[in-house]
Amino acid sequence: MIASVLPTYNRAPLTFVKGEGSWLIEADGRRFLDLGSGIAVNALGHAHPSLVEALTSQAQNLWHVSNLYEIPQQQALADKLVAETFADTVFFTNSGTEACELAVKMARKYHFERGQPEKVEIITFEGSFHGRSSAGIAAAGSEKMTKGFGPLLPGFVHLPWGDAEAVEAAIDETTAAVLVEPVQGEGGIRPMPDQELKDLRALCDAHGILLILDEVQCGVGRTGKLFAHEWAGITPDIMMVAKGIGGGFPLGAVLATETAASGMTAGTHGSTYGGNPLGCAVGCAVMDHVAAPEFLAEVNRKAGLMRQKLEGLVASHPEVFEEVRGSGLMLGLKCRAVNADVVKAGYAAEVITVPAADNVIRLLPALTITDADIEEAVLRLDAAATAVEAA
Ligand SMILES: *Cc1c(COP(=O)(O)O)cnc(C)c1O
Repeated sequence: MIASVLPTYNRAPLTFVKGEGSWLIEADGRRFLDLGSGIAVNALGHAHPSLVEALTSQAQNLWHVSNLYEIPQQQALADKLVAETFADTVFFTNSGTEACELAVKMARKYHFERGQPEKVEIITFEGSFHGRSSAGIAAAGSEKMTKGFGPLLPGFVHLPWGDAEAVEAAIDETTAAVLVEPVQGEGGIRPMPDQELKDLRALCDAHGILLILDEVQCGVGRTGKLFAHEWAGITPDIMMVAKGIGGGFPLGAVLATETAASGMTAGTHGSTYGGNPLGCAVGCAVMDHVAAPEFLAEVNRKAGLMRQKLEGLVASHPEVFEEVRGSGLMLGLKCRAVNADVVKAGYAAEVITVPAADNVIRLLPALTITDADIEEAVLRLDAAATAVEAA
């Protein structure tokens, strides 16, 4: 008989009942050091007092009101995002994949309103992940995600990762936009070199097409800048955000320039829950922490410390690990052993990591992780690697 929960996940036999900062407590009382953060979601760790306060005080007043009315918490969060980024305007969603839907619609509508309805094709890259909606899986295009699900949403061109010449060759009169993760997450923590992002920006400008960045995983302070593209000194036209922005509350957003958003007039898009008071109250609290320069400076300092310790770990376990990669506190350990075995050995050593493609394990700690917890995390990873070697 089928499980009462649709069996689409391969779950580890772990049941967490409480979270505190970088720690997850299992039903049996074991304390796990969390280097997954719910896949880059719990940006401020578990049960951060500011987020608990934001959520509970909002919950006592108003949970939901339709977007038929003004929502001050939504306005406040949009104002913060506009003040801190390239964006002139923001639409709120509940997830990353919904942000992808709007980003695609917005790019096509932009060209449509300019009398170029033929510009619908979105260029994307191998190894990318943009969510599980019909547009999200068509955008990523991998057989694993698309097979058996009927006709794919047309209008996506898939190119090899980081091949600027292929992008230039693929652009034609039907091209609407280029969509890319500045640091691929599911694809195995693959940062796009700054120069390649600059080249993509220049190509988009030269051809009058839009640059859409998917910062669902790499955004919101994860790489040590508020958004990862800031390292390359470029700005997108449209950007997808989710995961960390809600700190654990389901919240996503599409940020855009006024020009890129010009087609999205009243009635062209909407969401029942997107931008609800609870989510936006929490999002405001997340932004108040993460956008502060002192906070980002600490992320960078801790990222340096963690990376240095991980380099040591890789050097002591050359049969298990090949290299450290990534940006800020979005780190990957490329494995020589099977990555799933390393993740599993981590569970036994009470440290949580997340597998990714390309035989990588992801380390996405809370941005608030302490130096002591970084030290402890690497000790536990060392124990896990030793167990993998012994097996
Ligand atoms: C997680 C993720 C998504 C999808 O977000 P959901 O909230 O799961 O829909 C899209 N893009 C990237 C880069 C992601 O990491």
